This record gives sequence, structure tokens and C-alpha cells, in this order.
Amino acid sequence: MTDYLAITSDQIKKAGAALKKLRPTYLDLLDYYQQIFVAQEDSKSQLKIEPIKIGAEILAVKKNDKFPLITISEFVFDKNAAATLLKKICQITEAANEEMAAPARAIRKAIASEVLDPGAVFSNLLNADDTFFNKVESELNIGEKTLSLLAYNSLKPSLMHCALQLTSYLDEDDVWEKGYCPICGSTPAFSMFEDEGQRFLICSFCWQRWSAPRIYCPFCDNKDSKTLHYLYSDQEKDYRIDVCDSCKTYIKAVDTRKADRIIYPPLEFVATLHLDIKAQEMSFKSGIPLELQ
Ligand SMILES: [Zn+2]
Ligand SMILES: [Zn+2]
Repeated sequence: MTDYLAITSDQIKKAGAALKKLRPTYLDLLDYYQQIFVAQEDSKSQLKIEPIKIGAEILAVKKNDKFPLITISEFVFDKNAAATLLKKICQITEAANEEMAAPARAIRKAIASEVLDPGAVFSNLLNADDTFFNKVESELNIGEKTLSLLAYNSLKPSLMHCALQLTSYLDEDDVWEKGYCPICGSTPAFSMFEDEGQRFLICSFCWQRWSAPRIYCPFCDNKDSKTLHYLYSDQEKDYRIDVCDSCKTYIKAVDTRKADRIIYPPLEFVATLHLDIKAQEMSFKSGIPLELQ
């Protein structure tokens, strides 16, 4: 199986082509996101980022108390690479996403005319500074939601790079029985079942994955098999929705043993919006923070 953290842009294209054949209703959406994910992958080779260092004492405390290694504001990023990618993602959006084309053009023009500093956008995104985004919205008429989404996607190669580097501080044998990412503390966006049914949760922010118990709700730590089950359809044997009756939250999952294609979780996430609708119709809520949905 292809490790999605070491995937190439060609493999993303293949994964996208296979998914488009399987789920033609998502053709336009997959086309759009595939271009973004390929651009992200291509930009990884240009990244210049100093490793994040964690001192031995702090590391010992974090491990003992099961704290994540860093907070979101501690991620470092390559400003130039992220700014170049933001320009590219704006161009992709202008051409392929009707709904966001106008704000994407406004962002690109504001950056080109130097009224918007991409470095400030990235820093304020990581620091969750709403004041900055409100100011941009009132002064430049660029909505926070689109700006955050496009900026986040431009930062993602840096975030994934940092997350991968930080895994060197984690012990492979340590079981992380927590519902939040061991790297950055965010909730999982997606889940994967692999060979022999091993379950992994994938971070909604840095996209690192961690091994998790099969019968476990990451949103309320529930381990009671009586209140944990999953929804499943014979038409889509490769997907399931794990639901928790205790906190009424769900998480989508791909079962790689039942999928005969390259799996790239961010694409699978996009091609399963119907599962979100299904779960929400049954009164389950998503566990992903609103701004990342
Ligand atoms: Zn994370
Ligand atoms: Zn729960």
C-alpha cells in the first residue's frame, strides 16, 4: 500500500482518476482538490524549514502528561514557499471553483498590489487571530472563510513537513490512546483501517496519523462496544462511518483492505461528503472544528 505521507504528485493524480471513475458525482470537486493537492506536493521539494527542537525536560513532561508535542501557533513555515503556493492556489480556484473564484482573485490582487501581506495572513492563521481577519474583511472586502481556507492549504506542506520532523520525538512503540493528535493536539478528521484491521486516526490540521484502538471514540474516549457502532453500505464497501451514541459524534473511515486503488486521505475525505450528510441526517455531528470542515 502507498504511504500517503510519502506520496508523489503522480500518485495523487492516479488516486484522483480512480476516485473520479468510482464517484462521478464528485468530478468537479475532485478536479479542483486534486489540483490543489498536486500543487502542495510539488511545493514540498522547495521547503526550507529549520527543525523544531524540543528540550529533553519539556519532552519528558509532555510525554508523561500526554500533551501534544506543540501547539498550532508553534508550527514554523517557509513564508516564500507558502506565498508562492497561495498565488498558485488562488489561480486554480479562479479557474475551477465558481463559488470562490471572486474572493480568490481579490486575494491574489491584494497580495500583488502589496495591500495584503501573505506572511501576516499565515502567522495570524496559526495564532487564530480573528481581529486580523475581521480587519481584512472590513478593509479589503475579503471574507475570512475563503482567506483562511486558501491560506491553510498554502501552509499545509510546511505543516506536514514539521509534523513529519516532529515524529522523531515520538516512540513508535508507545500507544497514543488519545483522541487528539500527538503532534499538534487537533481532533482527527478521518480514519483508516489497514492490514489486519489496524486502525489509524488522521489529524484534521497537520494530517499526521496515529494508531488507535478499534473500538474507541476519539471525541469522548468512549470504549464501550454497546454504544459504539458503524454505518456501512453494500454499495461502498470501502467506506464506513463510525458513530458514538454517547457523544453523538461521527468520523468517516476508509477501509484500505477493501479498496483497490491508491488511497490519498485528503481526496477520500472530499469524495465522501454524502457520508457527512447521511450521518448528520441521523443526528450525529462532525468532530472536526467548524473552520476546518
Ligand atoms: Zn496534528
Ligand atoms: Zn463519543
